[in-house]
Amino acid sequence: MRLHIVIKIISFTLIIFLITLNAQAKNTKITIKNSFYTDAKKQGLSHATINTIIRTLSWRLNFNALRKNDKFSIIGSEKNHPDAIFFQRENKNIQAFLWGKKYYDKNGKSLQVGFLKAPLKYQRISSKFQYRRYHPILKTYLPHRAVDYAAKHGTSVYAVADGIIKKRKHMGALGNAVFIQHGGNYETVYAHLAGFAQKLRRGQIVKKGQIIGYVGSTGRSTGAHLHYEIRYNGKRKNPLRYKIPKAKQLSGNELKKFKQRIKTL
Ligand SMILES: [Zn+2]
Repeated sequence: MRLHIVIKIISFTLIIFLITLNAQAKNTKITIKNSFYTDAKKQGLSHATINTIIRTLSWRLNFNALRKNDKFSIIGSEKNHPDAIFFQRENKNIQAFLWGKKYYDKNGKSLQVGFLKAPLKYQRISSKFQYRRYHPILKTYLPHRAVDYAAKHGTSVYAVADGIIKKRKHMGALGNAVFIQHGGNYETVYAHLAGFAQKLRRGQIVKKGQIIGYVGSTGRSTGAHLHYEIRYNGKRKNPLRYKIPKAKQLSGNELKKFKQRIKTL
């Protein structure tokens, strides 16, 4: 055997060895004792990596309701994006694998839930997201961090994504309002409703596209329209400009490659 081939084989073996060693070194295990943030910090995870994990899993897991001894395994953490994130509880398992810049379950389905572009079939946008808007009732300038969709009285309003009903009640200026939480970070608000969908209750799980109420003009409103907000970590985002979360299913060749990759993890 030629010497340079031998050297190549040796260096190749060494590289594989180093990669394996590296991968092992970056396998972080977290068992919940206090909070995810505190326990993950103790294991040496960076603030940014912790944020990635919370953002990724919060579509399937409520980080405010973790239990003692819930377990996480984090594999790799290059550029604050671990290669894989595993969650384990007695009868609940979540697996998330990095592919591109997103996380997918073992079947190649993105963990994140997709949002509808708009929560209703509307006639026109009557007021956009703006920091200074003249309010016709209050006769003063106020921020309007929402979108108003003009639509006929009684038009169906849909949940823009899977979520849980956080509020469903009459709320002063908002009139009849529904608040839906999606994952751990997103919340959507639907206001001035004429009424709520039958049997809609607080704590109920709703599906994307499910009717939650009907367009009206309750609360501080001058005509039939839906006032719609998207909030990310409590901050109102412009629904017309904000990069709305999209769900994705890997398919074909990409899915094959993805499955090969997760086998190695
Ligand atoms: Zn509005």
